[in-house]
Amino acid sequence: MFTRLQTKLVVLFAGLFGLAILLCGAVVYTEVSENAGRTVRRELLASGEVFDRLWELRSSQIQDGASLLARDFGFREAVATRDDATIRSALDNLRARLDLHRAFIMDIDGAITGLDTPMDEARAAALWMALDSDPNAAGVTLIDNEPYQAIAAPILSPTLAGWVVFAVRLDAAEMAMLEKLSAIPLQASVLRREAQGAWTPVNGEDAFADARRLNRFVDAMLKPGEARELDTRDGRVIALAKPLHELGGDGQSVLLLRYPLALALAPYRPILLAVVLVGLLGVSLVVAGSWALARQLTRPIIALDAAAQQLARGAEVSVPVETRDEIGRLAGSFNTMAAEIRARERTITHLALHDAETDLPNRVALAQFIAAASGDGATVVAAMGVDRFHQVRGAIGYALANALLRKIALRLGADRPGLYIARVATSILGVVYRAADGEEAMRFAAALQECLNAPIRLGDDSIDASLTIGLAFHEPGDSPETTVDRAGIALDQARAARRKIARFDADAYGDPARNLSLTSDLMAALGNGGTSIFLQPKYDLRRRSVTGAEALVRWRDPRRGMVPPDLFIGMAEQTGHIRPLTDWVLGEAVAAQATLRAAGHDLTIAVNVSGRLMDDEDFARDAIGVIGRAGADICFEITETAVIDNPDVALRLIDRYAAAGISISIDDYGSGLSSLAYLKQIHANELKIDKTFVMSLAQGHRDALLVKSTIDLAHSLGLKVTAEGVETAEALAVLQTMGCDLAQGYFTGRPMPVADLLSFLRTPDRSSALSQA
Ligand code: C2E
Ligand code: CA
Ligand code: CA
Repeated sequence: MFTRLQTKLVVLFAGLFGLAILLCGAVVYTEVSENAGRTVRRELLASGEVFDRLWELRSSQIQDGASLLARDFGFREAVATRDDATIRSALDNLRARLDLHRAFIMDIDGAITGLDTPMDEARAAALWMALDSDPNAAGVTLIDNEPYQAIAAPILSPTLAGWVVFAVRLDAAEMAMLEKLSAIPLQASVLRREAQGAWTPVNGEDAFADARRLNRFVDAMLKPGEARELDTRDGRVIALAKPLHELGGDGQSVLLLRYPLALALAPYRPILLAVVLVGLLGVSLVVAGSWALARQLTRPIIALDAAAQQLARGAEVSVPVETRDEIGRLAGSFNTMAAEIRARERTITHLALHDAETDLPNRVALAQFIAAASGDGATVVAAMGVDRFHQVRGAIGYALANALLRKIALRLGADRPGLYIARVATSILGVVYRAADGEEAMRFAAALQECLNAPIRLGDDSIDASLTIGLAFHEPGDSPETTVDRAGIALDQARAARRKIARFDADAYGDPARNLSLTSDLMAALGNGGTSIFLQPKYDLRRRSVTGAEALVRWRDPRRGMVPPDLFIGMAEQTGHIRPLTDWVLGEAVAAQATLRAAGHDLTIAVNVSGRLMDDEDFARDAIGVIGRAGADICFEITETAVIDNPDVALRLIDRYAAAGISISIDDYGSGLSSLAYLKQIHANELKIDKTFVMSLAQGHRDALLVKSTIDLAHSLGLKVTAEGVETAEALAVLQTMGCDLAQGYFTGRPMPVADLLSFLRTPDRSSALSQA
């Protein structure tokens, strides 16, 4: 009903107090009214007795007067002689003196003298009988149909001659006189009935509403008893009925004394009023007091309630602890709880936005930062791939590899306050910065790369780390996630193109929906002549002749034009279509070799075999079958960094290839992080140094050293060495002095169709130019 605690408390207190006051008032009222009733009853009884006394007094006074007259000689004479005039004058005289209403005589024969109107016979006879039995009789009688208090005295002359009767009318004036004589303001009236009829007030008074009740009341009163309560037209009264003696006749009369209860209660009214006032004052004081108390009690609770709601809305809240009572302690507990919730929230938010291994911000945090980024220039997202991260991690363990990532992030961020760095994939850091244009973005990325030129210290050891970077501009309207994805794709594109930095190339990437159709188009192309193989010569530096060629797939799509292998090979690997592609290339290679053989050129043909196929036993069986049946001389190039799901199976298969006369070449050596142990495990015949090293041979001292030591290392393991990416005569000369076995590159020969290779091999100019280098 009441939703506020404060109102509830006030209503409860005020209600209880009001109830108590009401009970108190009721008790006081009943006590007072009963007391008043008792007092009035007592007073009435006392007054009744006083009336009796007064009545007697008056009666004896009149009696005296009557006796005096009855004994008067002259009067007796007049009665005896029936001297009416004298009798009347004597009666009148005494009547006036005693202040009486009537005075008359009744002679022994029953004749009446002194009354203006004669008394009716029956009543006269009744009076005579009463006087005859008691000459000094007194009582109520009717004269002219009006009740009178009559008193008689005998007239003896000397024998009984008659009676003197004096009468006082029981009228309103008489009653008023009686009332005046009482100590309390009571009302007197005479009630009368004839021959057991109904009681009626003799002077026509109209105070009694209910005649039957009045009758019952008076009847009950005829036996002597207490005063009782009675309803009248003027309200409740306390009344006492006193029977009056009757003088002859069969009528009955009572004197009814009554006193209004309201009057009895009047003296107590101030007390009752005081009780009511005190009660009202008390209730208002209790209301005010409990209101104040409830306010004081509920204020901290209201504050707590408000704070809890704010907390639910996620606001930072704390409530003041003002007291040391339960509420104070509750406030304290609330604050502790709120603080703990906040701390937990912070932890959760931190976990949600940070990478668990490095505690660097994660991809989600990066996206949020990009969404909020603003300032001069455009927002650039750089996906920085740590080169050879998986190999590093394999060598130094996960914990140190994560520490390495952290250190790289720290170094990138040092002195670059605006830089936001997050970990977006296992080996990729996402970096956000602002740049005016693409060139500035590239320059800044290069600067970031350079800060890893110095090795990174991890405990007592140091590690050489390098970054390949993919860049994407955050275009307004793009989602931050899309931009991060594009940066990642740009990184893949950079790696595929063997570049250190690349911007996202939307054309090369195409759109994902198109990419999916790309592979199915590729599969179709395999069967309908859309694909072909190019052969790139491998030049033997010692024999100074082309002794082999690498088969490279080419795809000309009618809509897309030439599609670079870097784009569709990866896609074919990921969509599981690399097997049919490789089968097809192998078939073409075997056929090309036969063509070359037929022309007198005995070349080992190298076929690239994806890491995905290295542990594929079906592929191995089929490939060995195809090669064996053709008696072909085939070499499998396996990329050093290839992801092989099942290395044990792969190693076993490599042994099977060797047994089948298929040589194994480790491709792209240097782009990964192969350990010596790994190289030893693979029973390979050849090592191909990655073209990035070879292409920078002339400029970089460091790369030259690396290439040289790689050649020595490979030789010590009994491997031949092919240098890829030989683009210049200088590079070829350097490689020759280093003792490299074979060279493959644009300088020694571009990838070309078989027919072109045939004429290439026939051209003596080309071979002599190479011999001179
Ligand atoms: P790869 O096996 O390292 O092949 C050598 C790549 O270097 C070829 O690119 C070739 O055109 C390029 N190249 C040769 N000489 C030079 C040079 O002097 N300078 C420069 N800058 N580049 C040179 P291509 O044909 O675009 O092939 C790219 C990659 O695609 C290959 O790299 C290989 O991993 C993959 N690939 C090509 N054909 C096949 C195939 O039939 N099967 C599989 N699994 N992979 C293939
Ligand atoms: Ca290759
Ligand atoms: Ca290669």
